Amino acid sequence: MKQARIGIIGGTGLAEALLKEGDGEPVEVDTPFGPPASKPILANWQGAEVVFLSRHGEGHRFSPSAVPYRANIWALKKLGVSTIIASGATGSLREDFEPGHLVLCDQVIDRTHRRESTFFDQGLAVHVEFADPFCPRLRKLLAEAGQQVETTVHHAGTYVCMEGPQFSTRAESNMHRQWGGDLIGMTCMPEAKLAREAQMCYALVAFPTDYDCWRPVETTRGKEALLKEILSNLKTATTHAIRLIQETLKRPGMFEADCACRGALKMAIWSDKSKVPSSVRQRLDLLIGSHFADE
Ligand SMILES: [Zn+2]
Repeated sequence: MKQARIGIIGGTGLAEALLKEGDGEPVEVDTPFGPPASKPILANWQGAEVVFLSRHGEGHRFSPSAVPYRANIWALKKLGVSTIIASGATGSLREDFEPGHLVLCDQVIDRTHRRESTFFDQGLAVHVEFADPFCPRLRKLLAEAGQQVETTVHHAGTYVCMEGPQFSTRAESNMHRQWGGDLIGMTCMPEAKLAREAQMCYALVAFPTDYDCWRPVETTRGKEALLKEILSNLKTATTHAIRLIQETLKRPGMFEADCACRGALKMAIWSDKSKVPSSVRQRLDLLIGSHFADE
């Protein structure tokens, strides 16, 4: 098989569903940050070479704070992935982002605080731009493909990424709404930051499965009925998300290499390159090798 190009990171629901698609081949990948959450699966899907990765690992073993984000992104990069479509279940912070809809997020508020969020934590200082955390080119392709999907696809939304694993208090939920948050989730960060550092195009398809606790629930319905409804919403959203990704893979321009994300490190390495220890250069060669080629 030639080098795979499109990475698909499956969050809750989508990973299991995707693994049933096509005949994938799991591959072992080593990274300087340990093994990825699960073995990436190389597959030919919809005529494209893709790599599926289950964010939470087989059997959903990793909680959001424990997901090996750096190893996940590194593994995809090593397999030749240049574009990542990620998915994630979320809570909705606004009435019109209904459970079952899909949201192509355009902004993030990062409230995580106990995760390794950079590849460049020692031996050099790297500051990538992150004003637009999701690839605009990829979001546009997803939005175009969204016309073929039988649900509402919102073309923008601000994702508040909380640490978890507990859900928000009602006061926090109201605060997130006041901040301008549209969705609340636990996994998009640092994933999107690391993808940018790895100079990969990255977009997130978020699917709200319920309204967060800001919205009063009907007291006549039991907790069991509510949970059932969330799981059913997750299933419906997963079906829509798969269709969206399938349609996106067919878009002309999907495999274009010309995108600002691919040059994210160009002006970002602030260290004097001659002072960066060779051990650091070797360790991070996959990401920074070409930037040191002339040294
Ligand atoms: Zn891009």
